[in-house]
Amino acid sequence: QQTSKRLRKFPNILVTGTPGCGKTTLCENIVSAMAQQNIKYNHLNVSQIAVDGKFTEEYDMERQTHVLDEEPLLDHLEEILSDFEETGYVVDYHSSELFPERWFDAVVCLATDNTVLYNRLSKRGYAEQKIQENLQCEIFQVCLQEAQESYDKDLVLHLVNDTDDDMEDNVESISKLINTGINSRRN
Ligand code: ADP
Ligand code: MN
Repeated sequence: QQTSKRLRKFPNILVTGTPGCGKTTLCENIVSAMAQQNIKYNHLNVSQIAVDGKFTEEYDMERQTHVLDEEPLLDHLEEILSDFEETGYVVDYHSSELFPERWFDAVVCLATDNTVLYNRLSKRGYAEQKIQENLQCEIFQVCLQEAQESYDKDLVLHLVNDTDDDMEDNVESISKLINTGINSRRN
């Protein structure tokens, strides 16, 4: 397989967690941090790619979310990921079980305090019911459990992401992890 872990020069990272936990911001910051070291990373925002590329089925009115047309979306993503000579990828999605395990070298699941998460989601203009659903999802660690069930547990990192300081720490530790991965592949 083209996406076999051993062939990649750059480790691919999946960033998952409840909506509002900071996935997109973290991924953008990782890309910038790596760029400062002249290492190219690409941010794949799966929801965005699904909407832009029309890899969606009907809109789920009740849950106010797009239902993915998974098979073609996964084929499309795999095609992007198979271009791995010059770049690594940070993949951004709230769910993790749909992706093949071989795509990722590490899975980061962000954790957010409930009050902080409430404020972020209400700023985003989410309806109260949708906010409550997401808070429940965070309380029951749905994304973490899904990640731990779908990937080697040793590859799953659970990182608190409440404050700007947390964000800085998270960017630094993931950049280190990426660099360690790159160096170990050189040998
Ligand atoms: P997600 O992609 O997981 O839905 P976002 O990256 O869009 O989350 O972040 C949601 C909101 O929370 C944004 O307004 C972002 O600026 C803010 N945010 C994310 N992480 C942090 C953090 N560590 N500290 C403070 N604000 C944050
Ligand atoms: Mn996002």
